[in-house]
Parts: sequence; C-alpha cells; structure tokens
Amino acid sequence: MVLEELNNQIRNCKKCRLYQTAKHAVPGEGPENAKVMIVGQNPGADEDETGRPFVGRAGKFLTKTLAEFGIKRETLYITNIVKHTSPENRKPYPDEVAACLPYLQEQIRVIQPKIIVLLGASAKETPRVEGIEYFEVVHPSAAMRFTKMREKFRVQIRELSEKIGELGVI
Ligand code: SF4
Repeated sequence: MVLEELNNQIRNCKKCRLYQTAKHAVPGEGPENAKVMIVGQNPGADEDETGRPFVGRAGKFLTKTLAEFGIKRETLYITNIVKHTSPENRKPYPDEVAACLPYLQEQIRVIQPKIIVLLGASAKETPRVEGIEYFEVVHPSAAMRFTKMREKFRVQIRELSEKIGELGVI
C-alpha cells in the first residue's frame, strides 16, 4: 500500500524534464516485501510503452537467465534509478538522476531488501545503505551483445543465486 502511494507520486511527478517526453512512468514492480531488488539505470522504449520495468529484449534476457539459475522474476522487486525514459534513450543527465534518486531511496526504505543487484551503470549512481549486500552485474543488454560480457553475466547471476541460497532469502 505504501508502495502504491509512492508509485502514484512517481506517475504524477514533474520534478525533472523527462515526464514531458515520456508516455508512462515506470515506477517498478514486485512484492512489497521482496528480499532482492534489481536496479537498472532508466526505462527504455518498451518500458515506456507499458509502464513496466525490464519488459523489452534485455528484460526478457534477464528474466530467462535468472530463471536458468533458479531465481523467479516475480519474487524480486525490479526498478530503475530514473523512472521516466529519456528522449532517444539517451543517458539521463546528472540533474535528472539527482531529482529521481529520492524515489529509489524511498523504495529501498519501504521494501528493506537484503540484496540489491545493480545492473551496469546504475552501480555508480546508487547510494549504498548499511546492512544491504550489493551485487554489481553486467547490464543484460551488454551481455546480449558481447560473448565475453555474456559469460561474465552468467557467472555473476550464478553467484547471486548462490548468495540468495546462502542467505535463504527467497
Ligand atoms: S524522471 Fe523521476 S524526477 Fe524526473 S519527472 Fe520522472 S519521476 Fe520525476
């Protein structure tokens, strides 16, 4: 419920310019008591169309790889640092990241995950919270494109799966 209120705030947000060019906000999805959170940088075109995170090609690849290692997407909370897509899918500007970051911080405060998986560039921009384990993982779109990245991605997802098992959080 708390999360739904936050989602509504995000859907009505005008704190930076990105809401003007996006079709839908993409607040995030998953259980409010998820123990594992996945954080990307910003939504792409498919996410903008649907208002849902990681539903395009990279998202499907991520979901499939997680499943291969026994991690069900629906048990995780999946979101991005920046909640609206950018024109031409450009990298969000620092002031846009700064404007949007408090929403991610609030999502972390409400959900209280044990593990946060940071995809690609989101690792640099996500502030660390004490008591949470952070996993930096290659972005799935890079993993799809480059063989070496794909191998690394699979190793990282396997390690994540082992860590989830160790902590018994899913
Ligand atoms: S990107 Fe974030 S800060 Fe900018 S308008 Fe959307 S929700 Fe608000």
